[in-house]
Amino acid sequence: MAEEYDLVILGGGTGGYVAAIRASQLGLKTALVEKGKLGGTCLHKGCIPSKALLRSAEVYAQTKHSEEFGVLTSDVSVNFTKVQERKGKIVDQLHKGVQHLMKQGKIDVYEGLGRILGPSIFSPMPGTISVEMNNGEDNAMLVPKNVIVATGSRPRTLPGLEIGGKVMTSDEALSMEEIPASIIIVGGGVIGIEWASMLADFGSDVTVIEYADRIIPTEDKEISKEMQRLMKKKGVKIVTSAKVLPETLKQGDTVAISAEVKGEQKEFTAEKVLVSVGRQANVEGIGLENTDIQVEKGYIATNEYFQTKESHIYAIGDVIGGLQLAHVASHEGIVAVEHIAGENPHPIDYDLVSKCIYSAPEAASVGITEDQAKEKGFKVKTGKFSFKAIGKALVFGESDGFVKIVADEETNDILGVHMIGPHVTDMISEAGLAKVLDATPWEVAHTIHPHPTLSEAIGEAALAVDGKAIHG
Ligand code: FAD
Repeated sequence: MAEEYDLVILGGGTGGYVAAIRASQLGLKTALVEKGKLGGTCLHKGCIPSKALLRSAEVYAQTKHSEEFGVLTSDVSVNFTKVQERKGKIVDQLHKGVQHLMKQGKIDVYEGLGRILGPSIFSPMPGTISVEMNNGEDNAMLVPKNVIVATGSRPRTLPGLEIGGKVMTSDEALSMEEIPASIIIVGGGVIGIEWASMLADFGSDVTVIEYADRIIPTEDKEISKEMQRLMKKKGVKIVTSAKVLPETLKQGDTVAISAEVKGEQKEFTAEKVLVSVGRQANVEGIGLENTDIQVEKGYIATNEYFQTKESHIYAIGDVIGGLQLAHVASHEGIVAVEHIAGENPHPIDYDLVSKCIYSAPEAASVGITEDQAKEKGFKVKTGKFSFKAIGKALVFGESDGFVKIVADEETNDILGVHMIGPHVTDMISEAGLAKVLDATPWEVAHTIHPHPTLSEAIGEAALAVDGKAIHG
């Protein structure tokens, strides 16, 4: 039996389920097809479980230093089973929340593997979705006017570096039963650094091997440098300009792998290896060959409203590449749905998207880096303010890091804001709003920041752009 819909969404991750809710709000008859669990990578294998583990690690690390706050504790230790249980409870609670939202929006959820069919008896156009149901029932046949492909991504691996045994990606690492005594993390990007921070705080001996000449290489250079200093301070060993040689992998009681570091081959040994070298789009097995949809460099190609070459089939989220972030996926979903509904949405300005790293300390940014601004030909001026001069940071006992604002000397526009330090992932939205509203550093500085708060560092950095910081 074929069921007709205004919209069928393939993939119920952050992109897909948010798109479904927006579609229901706009009165579209909507179905969501999910082969695994609603909430996708972010809820089950990404943002939420990793942040739950990071929080436990942070509490442990802070409790070990509680004497500094005049709080005396003894025999502080980690029960990793409980850490994992706490993570599981948070994920379950949010999963139930998403299931409830689907019911509330009267969205039909099909639990199974969806595949796009070509022109068929159901429709002269490609886009009918056949669902191989998880419960073994006959395939469901969904005939939509529009489709959104939101099939997400999976961990990328290095050719020749087999995952298994002591070698993991973040998928396997999230369900580790014990904290490894030592670990090699291949890749010092966002995910690698979050894991490095967490495992070091839990007491692991962590080595990060990064191909570029600095960790978190897409961030402003000064942020990378400060992150490297602070990771080293907590004991993380960082090897940069290092090319891992997968063929050298040896697994036994421990695991060993070599890397070419500045022309020299070096061997690293640990209890586990975590490979965090990026994410690969899920474009296979979803029937793209039955359509004119184009895949470029591994990602589905779309226009600014997320239409593929088949204008009634859209694609959003990790499967289209770009910034592979949950908030980007969901926003793309909203734009796609509003376009389908004829609402004339604004295309996304990716320059206005905030990016966060949830290590301890955190890092966050919006806009372009100082180097990118110079490459684009801007006459750059910067303002920087350290958390060392922020009362609230001293009260917290977390005064490492700074806020840096990159501005255009000629127009006074804010080009980028870069932060590293306590709770900066919660503070970056002020900078995001400043960018959206095209605020000048002066306007940011004259938004009176309450005292004592960490956000005072933003106001001071804005004043520092013109050399007028009060406390610096
Ligand atoms: P996904 O969340 O991957 O969802 C795709 C869904 O489609 C999956 O549920 C999958 O089962 C389903 N699917 C695939 N194929 C089919 C099919 N044929 N039929 C039916 N269903 C199908 N982002 C942040 O913004 N903040 C963070 O802190 C953050 N932390 C992260 C930490 C880790 C360790 C990882 C791995 C990622 C993290 N991310 C974070 C990235 C974030 O998880 C992704 O950007 C986001 O999940 C992308 O959403 P999506 O909807 O495009 O895809």
